[in-house]
Amino acid sequence: MTARINIPSSLHIGANAIDLAGQESRRLRRKHVLIVSDPFIVGSGLTGRVSDILSAEGIASTTFSDVQPDPTDRNVLDGLATLKENGCDCLIAVGGGSSIDTAKGISVLATNSGSLFDFMGYGRIPEAGLPLIAVPTTAGTGSECTKVTVITDTDRDVKMMILDPHLLPAAALVDYTLTMSMPKPLTAHVGVDTLTHGIEAYVSKKASPMTDTIALSCIALVGRHLRDAWNDPKNEIAREGMMLAASQGGMAFANSSVCLVHGMSRPIGAMFHVPHGLSNAMLLPAVTEFSIHGAMSRYATVARTLGLSRGNDSDEHACGKLIEGLLSLNEDLEVPQISECGISQEQFSSVVEKMAGDALASGSPQNNPIVPDADEIISLYLNAY
Ligand code: NAD
Repeated sequence: MTARINIPSSLHIGANAIDLAGQESRRLRRKHVLIVSDPFIVGSGLTGRVSDILSAEGIASTTFSDVQPDPTDRNVLDGLATLKENGCDCLIAVGGGSSIDTAKGISVLATNSGSLFDFMGYGRIPEAGLPLIAVPTTAGTGSECTKVTVITDTDRDVKMMILDPHLLPAAALVDYTLTMSMPKPLTAHVGVDTLTHGIEAYVSKKASPMTDTIALSCIALVGRHLRDAWNDPKNEIAREGMMLAASQGGMAFANSSVCLVHGMSRPIGAMFHVPHGLSNAMLLPAVTEFSIHGAMSRYATVARTLGLSRGNDSDEHACGKLIEGLLSLNEDLEVPQISECGISQEQFSSVVEKMAGDALASGSPQNNPIVPDADEIISLYLNAY
């Protein structure tokens, strides 16, 4: 079987990469850019900075600032209307995964008929979208390097996972200085999201030698830098390491896959609006424990790569250390349990069956080293609560 690898055709990585927004738009021969962002990032002045950079290159811009965390189909349609009203021919997303994913949705709806729901799943988008330049401000989702968008279908309360090479940004400006303002909880949630991407890409049934290398590099960077970025938010070395890890995590999982953690995490986000990285973090230790016997030597390599186990430990011992290490990482980063997020046991139990069905329908659990049935997913949800 051959491995197919898609990454953006142009990646700029380093401090002040954002300043290349004008140069990249010119390379793409664009005249009017839709800047897609959220109210916090607009208020921080970052979208104004991009707009000034574009105007210095003679390129017009309009800003759409209504992206909400865990974006919905309505956010995408509102952004599409702004794009059409202003005749934009290109998009620049400035923000976290939510802004980048919204821009991806707008980009493909601008050139395809139908709704995002028609494109849910794998490889179902007929035409390429308008070009997108992604400028991440969280070191987490890696969306700047993925052919994936995750948008909530508000009619069905489902976070739709759409994967298609047409969703890949044309360029990514990976500038760690934009992440220095992240508060501790956000740093923790998006940092464990990155770790989950690296681990799931590595243990997935769709892993390949190319994604293995990138996934292990991502995991090693998280092991080295996440606690430092959380303890000392102004630590530039740690922020730079986590930004690189995030982009590598995105490249790894989008060309391998995510697995059971993501499959179970999206329904929690759709039902209870728990931030995506947080719901991953809450599930990662329990789902890893469930999955370990399906890929013991791979999980042992993850433990060694994170520095949790020595090379001469047995795989079984290393896997035990991995579970302990993931639990203590959550504790150190003050990641709460599901029961501590204002979700009552009754509310949670009443939707576990729907969540298990939605998890299986997403396709992600089927890539897991051990493929669970609906009852096993329900038990995992209840144990993680
Ligand atoms: P986000 O984009 O939802 O942002 C969360 C909050 O952080 C927002 O209020 C935002 O304003 C704020 N924020 C962003 N950057 C900041 C900064 N530098 N300083 C301070 N605050 C900042 O968060 P996210 O975790 O990056 O994205 C989550 C979304 O990404 C989810 O919808 C998830 O499903 C999706 N996702 C997509 C992919 C993909 O490949 N497309 C991968 C993983 C997750």
